[in-house]
Amino acid sequence: MPSEQKSQPNAASPTRQDAPMSKEWHWHPVLPVRFAPYWHWPPNFKGLIRWCWQNWLQFSDRSIFLILAFIVAFWLQPVSSAQADITIDWVLPVFLRNWILLTLVAGGLHLWFYGIDGQGKLLKYDPRPYLKRRNALFKFGYQTWDNMFYSLVYGAPILSVFECVLRWSYASGHTTTIQFVDAPLWFILLFPLLALWQSLHFYLVHLLLHQPILYRHVHSVHHRNVNTGPWSGMSMHPVEACGYLSAVLILLIVPSHPVHMLFLAYWLMLGAASSHSGYEAIWAKDRQALLLGAFFHQLHHRYYECNYGNAEMPWDRWFGTYHDGSEKATKHIRERKRAMHAK
Ligand SMILES: [Zn+2]
Ligand SMILES: [Zn+2]
Repeated sequence: MPSEQKSQPNAASPTRQDAPMSKEWHWHPVLPVRFAPYWHWPPNFKGLIRWCWQNWLQFSDRSIFLILAFIVAFWLQPVSSAQADITIDWVLPVFLRNWILLTLVAGGLHLWFYGIDGQGKLLKYDPRPYLKRRNALFKFGYQTWDNMFYSLVYGAPILSVFECVLRWSYASGHTTTIQFVDAPLWFILLFPLLALWQSLHFYLVHLLLHQPILYRHVHSVHHRNVNTGPWSGMSMHPVEACGYLSAVLILLIVPSHPVHMLFLAYWLMLGAASSHSGYEAIWAKDRQALLLGAFFHQLHHRYYECNYGNAEMPWDRWFGTYHDGSEKATKHIRERKRAMHAK
């Protein structure tokens, strides 16, 4: 899920576009798939600064979500004292905006990759085509319709409820609002800190979702998507959507500005669309137009009992559930799965 992030910034290469790169994958980044450089040892400060520059400040999905958060927080719909009272006047725009944003991002990516087939198999992970034909496994018989249903009926509205609760909390003074001038360093650092928090939260919630009862009744809805598309990201059972999106509720107790809340909200919702697109990057006009890559989570959709977290923080490596993309790791995970099922 979201916000799984680039394992190899700018590693996308259009080479070998016709022949698959391995038995399992049509295209994959340089292996082993790596975590964000905050965690590389020994530390490589130059590499870390370059990575932060490329991921946070250059054109990327992360910087798009950041800009969007600023536009909404400071211009489109700032938190105002009127939001201390719950009224339809400001609640409805929150719901409408989140529906529209998810439709634009997931729908736009879907249209490019699987509608007009904008780049064929170039930088596509899974060698199998995206499932367009009828399949009884999915609601209404089609993966895309099913995924849109879960995303728009549960995913986006649940995020909107959380956003409204937080807006009310900022407006009524229950959450301490900080301005940039009050604490500039905290204001800036909170963005990457929230991405790290989301990584921990996602790891824990996701691990729980893989416990047999929860998997059977809740998480299996998301995992019907073996070959994922942009709409698969937020396609979850409502219980899972509540758990996954609840990461944003940490801002009920952390002093912050609404722009932080919106960044984390978009990172969760829109990041799930980009990270499930099934492609490493958008490739247009013979160049990489936008890096999306989430090979780390693609491995989870293929092998299940691995990579519960994301590449932002090495929770999976620390707890022995890391799949680095190698055949050795596949063997290890298969043995782990067998042992789990033998219990
Ligand atoms: Zn997923
Ligand atoms: Zn899972």
